[in-house]
Amino acid sequence: MTATDLRSIRNIGIAAHIDAGKTTTSERILFYTGRKHKLGEVHEGAATMDWMEQERERGITITSAATTCQWKDCTINLIDTPGHVDFTVEVERSMRVLDGAVSVFCAVGGVEPQSETVWRQADKYRVPRIAFINKMDRVGADFWSVVTQMKDRLGARPVPIQIPIGVEDGFVGVVDLVDFKAAIYEDELGTEYRKVEVPAELLEEAQLARDAMVETLADFDDQIMTAFLDAKPVEEAWIREALRRETVALNVVPVLCGSAFKNKGVQLVLDAVVDYLPSPLDIPRYEGVNPETGDAVEVDSSVEGPFVALAFKIMVDPFVGRLAFCRVYSGTLESGSGIYNASTRKRERVGRILRMHANKREELDAVHAGMIVAIPGLKQVRTGDTLCMEGHPVLLESVEFPEPVISLA
Ligand code: GDP
Repeated sequence: MTATDLRSIRNIGIAAHIDAGKTTTSERILFYTGRKHKLGEVHEGAATMDWMEQERERGITITSAATTCQWKDCTINLIDTPGHVDFTVEVERSMRVLDGAVSVFCAVGGVEPQSETVWRQADKYRVPRIAFINKMDRVGADFWSVVTQMKDRLGARPVPIQIPIGVEDGFVGVVDLVDFKAAIYEDELGTEYRKVEVPAELLEEAQLARDAMVETLADFDDQIMTAFLDAKPVEEAWIREALRRETVALNVVPVLCGSAFKNKGVQLVLDAVVDYLPSPLDIPRYEGVNPETGDAVEVDSSVEGPFVALAFKIMVDPFVGRLAFCRVYSGTLESGSGIYNASTRKRERVGRILRMHANKREELDAVHAGMIVAIPGLKQVRTGDTLCMEGHPVLLESVEFPEPVISLA
């Protein structure tokens, strides 16, 4: 695995308050990313919805701690974030294994107190975000009101990169402000959409929204600023680059919209995950502690460094048994190798390494920095444990060791 491969990994979570559409959006993501073989298995139309229902019953898609899928050239690991919103160690752990998040808002309810709590958690752990304003088809949906609430209530700098075409029953697609084309959904599954010229009646609103996007980015980018001031064309590539850089730096939040339930907008969310959310290489190092000396240790996001991983969830799989879901921060580990658990100070052997997809488990020969995998058979590993190499012990999460028991007998 090379640096180029690491660039094409996205470790993301979907953050939302209850009912905003996190489950529906996640299911649609797995549908679109898996649709090549899925569509071959089912009949067209309603049957695909049945497939989603079956998946829901089997519980594989959304209950797995991490599901790997593919979109364009990227491997996306969809990490389940806890549904509750307390500042618990579990939330902290799930935030630290993500590199970015899709924040889902309801176009009717907007920014509710619970969405504020979820947002603050992501702020605390400095997770770059894109926002998806969902349920544009519902009565009372209001895209611009939610954008304003993001500013006023969350103190965010939202940058709409789309505007809706129509609303409620008449919601049919979005104007993509980056390539300045209208995406209109043609089939019920949202798989077929046409990119056409911006409709005349939306041209003025779209132009204003595009100018606002460019003006915001100009604050961070001299090239865009110069073109903007000289009223010269701003190239699409500059916009894409500035959006990515400033999203990763937490300066802006690109805003998209759609209706997950009506299969509109989710594919463009996947495009935005690939285009604007960071890869593991964008976070060059992590802080750890040497458990023996208490000294700070820097863990580099590189495949060459000593192996360091965090077990962030233990689950029991009906077929494979106990699985430790791990995020690898540094190095490479081959199956069959020994590892050192710095949290329990015990050695274990990694017999197999699995990658969990929505519909299958893939056996891997090795795991590298930036990846998320499930390791079966680690009996002593608990959530929050750091797995590393004995000669390079690192703790990513602090642990309290029990006082040694001294026998006086
Ligand atoms: P979660 O609690 O955030 O996981 O939300 P769900 O995905 O379970 O959605 C909550 C409810 O809203 C369900 O009844 C969904 O069918 C519905 N829903 C989700 N997305 C949309 C949407 O885009 N439009 C409409 N009209 N309903 C939606």
